[in-house]
Amino acid sequence: MAKEETLKSMGNYWLFPYKSADFDVDACLKKHNLVLWHLTNSTENKLKKGDLVFLYDSAPNSRITFLMKVIEPYLENPVLPYNEDKFWKNAKAKKETAAKYKHSCLLEIVEAINSFDLTYREIKGRDNSFSVQWQHRISGKALIYILDVAYGIIDKRLECNDEQPLTEGKETRGALVTRERNLKARQECIGRKGYKCTVCGMEFEKVYGELGKGFIHVHHVVPVSARNGEYEVNPEKDLVPVCPNCHAMLHRKGTITVEELREIIARNKK
Ligand SMILES: [Zn+2]
Ligand SMILES: [Zn+2]
Repeated sequence: MAKEETLKSMGNYWLFPYKSADFDVDACLKKHNLVLWHLTNSTENKLKKGDLVFLYDSAPNSRITFLMKVIEPYLENPVLPYNEDKFWKNAKAKKETAAKYKHSCLLEIVEAINSFDLTYREIKGRDNSFSVQWQHRISGKALIYILDVAYGIIDKRLECNDEQPLTEGKETRGALVTRERNLKARQECIGRKGYKCTVCGMEFEKVYGELGKGFIHVHHVVPVSARNGEYEVNPEKDLVPVCPNCHAMLHRKGTITVEELREIIARNKK
C-alpha cells in the first residue's frame, strides 16, 4: 500500500497520555504555547527534536486533544518561562509525576485537535493494537487514521476563514497565533498557485463572475509535509488550492492524493 510506504519514510509520531483532570493542558497551552512534559524511561533517548506528539487525554475525555512538536527532547533541570503550578489541579499527581520521571521534554503546540473522531474507541475500531497506556510511538493503521483526521481538521482551518477579522471574539493568544499562521500560509499558497482548483481546474471567478472572485479552499497535503518530523507548513509543498467539490472527494475515504483524484476523474470521463 502506497500510503504505508510513505508513512515509513516519515518522522516519529508519538502518543503521550495524560489526565486533564490532573493537569489542565488546555488552559496552559491557551496561554503559553509551550509545555514541559515528563518522560518515561521507555521514551528517553528515543525522542528527537522535531518529532511530533499527539497528546491523549485519558480522563475525562478519552481522546486526542493536541498535536505538538518536540522543541527540546531531553532536559535534566528544566526551567519554564512561566509557573506551571497553577495548571496542576491535583497536587498529589503533580508530586508523583515529579518523583517518578526524572527527565522532561519541551513541547510546542502545532494545533488543537480535540475531535470526537479521535476517541479511544474510534481509533481502536480501526486498529486493534492501538494503546493509550504509556508514551509510545504510533504506527500502522492507527497512525494513518489519526493523521487523516488531524490534518483534515488542520486544513479545515485553512479553508475560508480569511474574511473574519483576526481580533474577533475572545480568542486566546495561542489560538490567535495558530490562526494568524494558518492565514499567512493560506495566503502564501494562493499567492503562488492562484484560485484555480489543482484537481479539476475549476475557477470560481470564471463560473460565478464577480461573486466567485477570490474564493477557493486550501487543502493540506499529508503526510508528506511531516516528513523527517520537521513540521512547519510549507505553502509551496504542503498546500494546494482546490474547489469544495474536489476537496470533499479528497477527504471522502481517508485522504487520497491529488494525483489519485485526477485519475479517478479521468477514468470516469470515458
Ligand atoms: Zn476541483
Ligand atoms: Zn483538505
